[in-house]
Amino acid sequence: MKKKICIVGSGHGGGYLAIKLSKLKNFEILLIDKDDINSNFNLKEKIKFNNFYNNSYYVNNIRRAYGIGGGNNLWHGVLTKLEKSDLKTIDKLSGTDLEENRFLYNEVLDDLNLDYLKEFKSSNFNQSEFNNIFIKNKVKIKDYFILNKPAFLRKKIRDLIKNNTIKYIGNSHCLFIEKDKISKNVSSVTVRDKNHVLSKIHADIFVLSCGAIETPRIMLESIEGGYLKNYVNPNIGKYLTDHPFAVIGNIQLKNKKYLSDQNFEKIINDKIRYRAGYLINEKLKDRALNHSIVIKKSLFVEHEEIKETIMNIINNRLYLNFNKIINIMLKLSFYKFIYVFILSKLGLSNKLTYTADVYCHLDQRFKKNSRIRYNSKQKTVDIFFDKTDLEIESIYYVQRELIKIFKHSNYLFSPKNKKNINIHHANHHSGTMKMSKSDKLGVDDKNLKVHGISNLYICDSSIFPYFGNSNPVLTILSLASRLSNFFKKLNY
Ligand SMILES: Cc1cc2nc3c(=O)[nH]c(=O)nc-3n(C[C@H](O)[C@H](O)[C@H](O)COP(=O)(O)OP(=O)(O)OC[C@H]3O[C@@H](n4cnc5c(N)ncnc54)[C@H](O)[C@@H]3O)c2cc1C
Repeated sequence: MKKKICIVGSGHGGGYLAIKLSKLKNFEILLIDKDDINSNFNLKEKIKFNNFYNNSYYVNNIRRAYGIGGGNNLWHGVLTKLEKSDLKTIDKLSGTDLEENRFLYNEVLDDLNLDYLKEFKSSNFNQSEFNNIFIKNKVKIKDYFILNKPAFLRKKIRDLIKNNTIKYIGNSHCLFIEKDKISKNVSSVTVRDKNHVLSKIHADIFVLSCGAIETPRIMLESIEGGYLKNYVNPNIGKYLTDHPFAVIGNIQLKNKKYLSDQNFEKIINDKIRYRAGYLINEKLKDRALNHSIVIKKSLFVEHEEIKETIMNIINNRLYLNFNKIINIMLKLSFYKFIYVFILSKLGLSNKLTYTADVYCHLDQRFKKNSRIRYNSKQKTVDIFFDKTDLEIESIYYVQRELIKIFKHSNYLFSPKNKKNINIHHANHHSGTMKMSKSDKLGVDDKNLKVHGISNLYICDSSIFPYFGNSNPVLTILSLASRLSNFFKKLNY
């Protein structure tokens, strides 16, 4: 008899798992999502989504998981693999064998017809001057692939629904899961549809794939509501990590005014674009961090000359206001574009200077106090990011390294002051349901099964005990593939 598997969340983890499992004969697959599978991301949907959440008793702190996360028919930016050393760290923390199973990355690329990404390596194209400087300083290059079309996971799921391989329950928000009164198994999930009607869905196996904020919320609500009797795990929701980034300075030519385009991001062929990152290694007492540097073209850092020219044209009394206006304009790329346009019309475009912004994507240190918390009174999810200065310390370290790296070149790295550094979240949340060798240290085991519950699995970005500095999607997809292989081996 077929086993009924209920996957909650049809994003990268859950959606891809469903696609992979659909190839196995012994599973009946039920996929639940708060989204409508037929809708792609659009403004109307977004408004509907916002209204749905505003009217609901859940505060929507879930910035991801819609459109780009769940409905990934959208162009989905950047794909990158975890470094070998990062996979090793995960293996050490959780008893997995991800490093050995790196081939799964290529299986995913094959499966999604992204085969061409495999061939591509930094060594396959002409090195830019910046590349050469980093190589000379023994800095490792990290490959980032930028897709020029989406992976169309949703379209694949729609096709499988059409031919009845997957059953989909859309527009249904999972509230909590419930344990059987006799066995130790989860027996049902309770969902609320768009008319606020509640229903219970039963299955043999359950997989939560709602992302690193919603999955622990479902677990915590289930525990606090008394639906998971005798189950506790204090690690749920803790160790929230992201992949924060900041512009930490810029690089200019020491002697000439202009930096040429060729030093920047290149279009390699008509299928993909490639971006080189550079890994700056920071050794701490207990571990090493790999911060990633990406260099992007930026305009008019030296706009003083242009300002002066314009100042001669306009009335002195307007100076202050004008200065302010120019500064505001410079902050937004759209206005930059208009600014360039106006300057070229005024015949001043030869005064424009170029520089390169240096983005630092941080390998985040563990912070016990960064977590998501379930507020049972208000039924909300609150997100806490510990704002201690550890990130700034790492940024200072990277800045010092970059000064050294560029010292004997034609370029100059100018670090930003602390007060001008804005650290941003990358929406790469992870860690809140981390894999571990025991329930004392984390929530799920190396096969993504929740410790202490025999039929509950987690398949999303919450499971990472450590993430390094990579964009997560490709790794989440390969973990979903690994989980489907695991189910196959269990031979249900
Ligand atoms: C703007 C943006 C840009 C990004 N760009 C990149 C990038 O370029 N490269 C990259 O690697 N990563 C990128 N990410 C991160 C990436 O999207 C996430 O890490 C990834 O989607 C996480 O996968 P997941 O399976 O954990 O969750 P998701 O893909 O977010 O899927 C979660 C699914 O669960 C559903 N869901 C949530 N709550 C419930 C509930 N209670 N009941 C039922 N269903 C529910 C959601 O609708 C969604 O379909 C980006 C994220 C954002 C927001």
